[in-house]
Amino acid sequence: MPSSTYADFYRRSIDDRDAFWAEQAALIDWQTPPQQICDNSRPPFVRWFPGATTNLCHNAVDRHVPKRGESAALIHVSSETGSERIYSFNELHREVQRMAAILLSLGVRKGDRVLIYMPMLAEAAFAMLACTRIGAIHSVVFGGFAAVSLASRIEDAEPRVVVSADAGMRGGKVVAYKPLLDEAIRHSRHQPESVLLVDRQLAPLALVEGRDHLYAPLRMQYLDAEVACEWVDATHTSYTLYTSGTTGKPKGVQRDTGGYAVALAASMRHIFEGQPGETYFSTSDIGWVVGHSYIVYGPLIAGMATLMYEGLPVRGMDGEPDPSIWWKLVEKYKVTRMFSAPTAVRVLKKYDAAHLRQHDISSLKALYLAGEPLDEPTARWISEGLGVPIIDNYWQTESGWPILTIANGVERKPSRFGSPGVPMYGYNVKLLDENTGAELTGPNQKGVLVIEGPLPPGCLQTVWRDDARFVQTYWSSVPGRQVYSTFDWGIRDADGYFFILGRSDDVINVAGHRLGTREIEECISGHAQVAEVAVLGVADALKGQVAVAFAVPRDAATVADEALRLRLEGEIMKRVDAELGAVARPARVFFVGLLPKTRSGKLLRRAMQAVCEGRDAGDLSTLDDPTALVQIRQAMQAGK
Ligand code: ATP
Ligand code: MG
Repeated sequence: MPSSTYADFYRRSIDDRDAFWAEQAALIDWQTPPQQICDNSRPPFVRWFPGATTNLCHNAVDRHVPKRGESAALIHVSSETGSERIYSFNELHREVQRMAAILLSLGVRKGDRVLIYMPMLAEAAFAMLACTRIGAIHSVVFGGFAAVSLASRIEDAEPRVVVSADAGMRGGKVVAYKPLLDEAIRHSRHQPESVLLVDRQLAPLALVEGRDHLYAPLRMQYLDAEVACEWVDATHTSYTLYTSGTTGKPKGVQRDTGGYAVALAASMRHIFEGQPGETYFSTSDIGWVVGHSYIVYGPLIAGMATLMYEGLPVRGMDGEPDPSIWWKLVEKYKVTRMFSAPTAVRVLKKYDAAHLRQHDISSLKALYLAGEPLDEPTARWISEGLGVPIIDNYWQTESGWPILTIANGVERKPSRFGSPGVPMYGYNVKLLDENTGAELTGPNQKGVLVIEGPLPPGCLQTVWRDDARFVQTYWSSVPGRQVYSTFDWGIRDADGYFFILGRSDDVINVAGHRLGTREIEECISGHAQVAEVAVLGVADALKGQVAVAFAVPRDAATVADEALRLRLEGEIMKRVDAELGAVARPARVFFVGLLPKTRSGKLLRRAMQAVCEGRDAGDLSTLDDPTALVQIRQAMQAGK
């Protein structure tokens, strides 16, 4: 069992909900402190701390100025441009006020939307904080998205102002943003009044008269601006953000202010254990939820310095290959807590583990990973390589902070590789039988992971402008019961630790046997010759479904060599037979150079499955590299 201290803490969060969250609410500053804690009178819509007023930017920036104004707040590093800059809380406070003054001058008012389409620049964080400072709602769109996806997000958010830049950079190549933005605005039914542009002088910047404004001269104009924080109701919307689109059309998550601030402050204390004065380094992008919660708001609310990094994990400040760049930054900035994703670790894993020990990383206390199932071989590789605890955490854009992980007081068991841990306080997590909706209470039963309402502070309020979709999508999947479905499938062992087996749609049914594709993937990825693998269910006339695997071999020559392919395929099948049994054996193992992924690095199984079944691949706006799907097609043809 998780130790009794955590078990008590957790129980209180569920059984004595209001008292529990009233205590957590004391971790942030309020203008009007909460009288009421939770208004759940209209489920599944819950309102946390209604009537209380606060401000996210105040909690992230202003409140630290008197105590630690000179301490580092935002450390911006770009290995793409070779630049490094530290902003103290005082400086961040000034920059955010300048940005806020500019937005106000462009007519942005409380409740207006501001769309932020930017690379990992310090100005992107200033813009987010400036929005919440004045009560405007930000909608950050990942900088890698092309014009069509951007246009649909502009239409959805209807921003008064768009904040962008001339260009981003990836692997030394300039990616011009402005032409994409212009094209997106041309295609959009909604026209922003103004576009604010940071000119990095990486790409030509053609300004549209009357609409486009350069940031630098405006900043000079508002150099001494003082813009007070706008106190907003705790339930005021702070931002909207899209899910990754792994399973279909991305959903626009709408987040509040007070509940979110409390949730983040509590998570920094109970989960990430961040202390003021320490440095937090999340390798995510501000375009994702991890970037919102654990690059910008969470660490700053805790009074920590946050390291914001533009660049690849394998390229150094001088543009030369350097798979140790992250650890160099850990050493230089004495990072204590680091947050990344399994997909990034798999990139590092292609290089020698010695790179992990090239720098003095003794400041580092833990590495948190989230976003995808963490397979055991990857977890072991990084954990042994770094010599620090690896803490898997399971959550969603919708939740805003971890649902399952190891918190303060929860015992970490080395044998628990593959488990993100136990339910976090506030989350009344259950496993339900997919078909009957019955609760599964015994150990090691497989079911859908659901959360009994009300969702704790920090979680989505609704789907942006679509309450019906919120209810329909998340709260209506279990017959006869209104519970929040995560659409993930898991088991809980006898000690109460959960394992995520994959998406509920990734469960396949082979001749009546229900198999999680993740289990098969885990087994295959244990083969020394396999760098990465995706397993999916493909319709089969005889068996209903069969498992098909696409693997990236370590030795690239395998892809083009039939004899090598057949040999490795045979070995993999034997391995699955031995570990999981013949029923789990994939019908075929195909070899490719890369797998199709979303821009946030998640396997796009639905697209692979569609290709295998000869169907249309659906919404591919989040597909990172289209050649990956072409390879899937070719591998199947070559393998036939
Ligand atoms: P969409 O909802 O648009 O299909 P998405 O679910 O990938 O996309 P995110 O909110 O970015 O969008 O991802 C959340 C999902 O990622 C979870 O529901 C789960 O499937 C997966 N996930 C996140 N963390 C973990 C983890 N630690 N272990 C296993 N799976 C994880
Ligand atoms: Mg999802």
